[in-house]
Amino acid sequence: MKGFHNRKTGMFIRRTMRVPQMLCGMIVALLVTDVSLAIEPRQGTLVVVGGGQLTDEIVGRFVELAGGQAARLVVIPTASSDSGLPDADAVARLWRERGIRNTILLHTRDREQANEAAFVAPLRSATAVWISGGQQSRLAAAYVGTKVQSELQALLKRGGVIGGTSAGAAIQSGVMIESGNPVPRISRGLDLLPNSIIDQHFLRRDRANRLLSAVSQYPGHAGLGVDESTALVVQGRHATVIGNSFVVVVSESQAGKPLRLRTLRHGNEFELGTSQPNRPKQVKWAIGIHGGAGTVSKDASPETVQTWRNGLRAALEKGKSIVEAGGTSLDAVEATIRILEDNPLFNAGKGAVFNSAGGHELDSSIMDGRTLDGGAVAGVTTVKNPISLARRVMDKTRHVLLAGQGAEQFATEQKVDRVENAYFSTERRREIWNRVRQRESVKPVSRVSTARPWQYGTVGCVALDSHGNLAAGTSTGGLNNKKFGRVGDSPILGAGTYADNETCAVSATGTGEQFIRHTVTAQISQLMRHRSWTLKQSAEYVLHERLNKGDGGVIAVDLHGNIEWVYTSPGMFRAAASSDGRFDIRIRDEE
Ligand code: ASP
Repeated sequence: MKGFHNRKTGMFIRRTMRVPQMLCGMIVALLVTDVSLAIEPRQGTLVVVGGGQLTDEIVGRFVELAGGQAARLVVIPTASSDSGLPDADAVARLWRERGIRNTILLHTRDREQANEAAFVAPLRSATAVWISGGQQSRLAAAYVGTKVQSELQALLKRGGVIGGTSAGAAIQSGVMIESGNPVPRISRGLDLLPNSIIDQHFLRRDRANRLLSAVSQYPGHAGLGVDESTALVVQGRHATVIGNSFVVVVSESQAGKPLRLRTLRHGNEFELGTSQPNRPKQVKWAIGIHGGAGTVSKDASPETVQTWRNGLRAALEKGKSIVEAGGTSLDAVEATIRILEDNPLFNAGKGAVFNSAGGHELDSSIMDGRTLDGGAVAGVTTVKNPISLARRVMDKTRHVLLAGQGAEQFATEQKVDRVENAYFSTERRREIWNRVRQRESVKPVSRVSTARPWQYGTVGCVALDSHGNLAAGTSTGGLNNKKFGRVGDSPILGAGTYADNETCAVSATGTGEQFIRHTVTAQISQLMRHRSWTLKQSAEYVLHERLNKGDGGVIAVDLHGNIEWVYTSPGMFRAAASSDGRFDIRIRDEE
């Protein structure tokens, strides 16, 4: 039987009642209580329509839930362009044809007005709201965070119904897909259906990838892909599909678990996840560093271990102070790596390993996740801080990578600090070089080696700044006893270094040839983008499934500030800090 049940009066109003009877019923109801407080269902209902043709069934269900002829409907047309805005009479006529007699048009683009009591007054007495289609960004710009939003939430609380189609559906999410496919642009919606990300025109416009991507970026949120001429009717956590096509439900993303899809059709019912809001970790800033794959020997003295820790700490503190003060991730990455380059413990700048000719050739790169621009230098021999020269390649030239003599000449033009090649030598590195040379003269290293011919110490830094920008940088002396002229992965964007604001920033360390062959840092970013995996899943897959055990590791941070380190080498020098109070320095495996 069609109708609605007034809990307070106990009256059930049939849609078949004639108007005079109906009005009598309403008057009684009004005498007893405010009718808007009494309409079933108690917790309110959302009618989420995927756009396209509104079927009679969908309209009928909305009208029924709104209270039929007794409904007091507010129509919000703000998703339309100015030229497409309907006039109040036309809207009233349309809804009268659909069975609702009392309709008010509510529209503004002025957020101040959206906060005025007089403006939102119709929402206070409404039993139902209909949000029509267009662009959800227009709705968000006018109403998110205003009194309109709180009145809509209050309407639901007192048992009202809110329906919307297309943009009017998308805006019902808190994490709202504003545009973009397959990479969604996310902004905030009205958050009427917590922990869900709604997408509309879903099959018709092939939007599966963008919804998967959005869900994987926002742990704790389920994806609801509603196709055209189809609606999801949600009461509490209970959802029912009506209409002509399908609703695709993407399960909440949980660390380590793949996303699941369910395709539902007319009549299917399901319970939306019951998990509590589990917003993605949204730190303001985050920074991670590595000092190379490898670790100190088991019998190293506590003082030796402490020296390494101090080296990592000094660098991390520098980078942290920059992002903490609102500085950019690029500046933090450069400054942090300069400190590591100046520390003779690490295989970058002072303390770099020896090549087969007994000299030092240094590689470095830096990448800006905001613009995907980058700069790199390879095989430089007299540049004290190669990371700063790499930065200048990015900032001052139209190129990405300068090598050898050309890079040296550019260093002269840029007047960066220069040193004799011998400046980079340390006794410790010379001893290791002699040992490795001897070993390699007896048993040459194979092409795809798991023999770990590298000696730890390459340095890298990844950072997310408070402006939401990611950056990554890496600097190295390369592999011990490398062939003269050999270039590793560290100055190759996509191999040793990568940053993309929409995914992550990564810096690698280990057998460079392997990282180049597998485009390791770019691959991690692309798994996040195209498979919608988390940073951890992506990095673990590449390090454990694509590379050989012992090839090395990465340090990475994603767009939410999650810092991950994954390595298959025996240990990795690494440290991380973030605005949620984390300050973590690790050297050995077991920590
Ligand atoms: N990846 C560097 C290279 O192959 C070495 C290292 O990370 O230690 O040049």
